Amino acid sequence: MNKATEHQEGFTYAEAEEIVRDYVCASCQGILTIHCIDFNTAGVACRECGPVELAGRVTKRTVALEAERAKLQFDEVVKNLADLFPEPAFPRKQKKTEREILKELGF
Ligand SMILES: [Zn+2]
Repeated sequence: MNKATEHQEGFTYAEAEEIVRDYVCASCQGILTIHCIDFNTAGVACRECGPVELAGRVTKRTVALEAERAKLQFDEVVKNLADLFPEPAFPRKQKKTEREILKELGF
């Protein structure tokens, strides 16, 4: 038994397919992949962190909710920074007019 498999109890292949469909790595939020342990047993692992039994797993839904929450917090911080500084901390990219684009291209 090598280091990659010594902590793995494994799953049925049906369980493993459900895990990679619904979960990501708890450590890095990377995708999980299935590998063969034996005829009836599948291992699930993150490429970066190793077996899911060690790295842990978190549902993709939880990760999406956390990302949405982080975006809302970021937007709030940017809004508050605009009150503190005269120049926008994270200026929005201005859309260029057709004339400005042509001028930049030398026409
Ligand atoms: Zn990972």
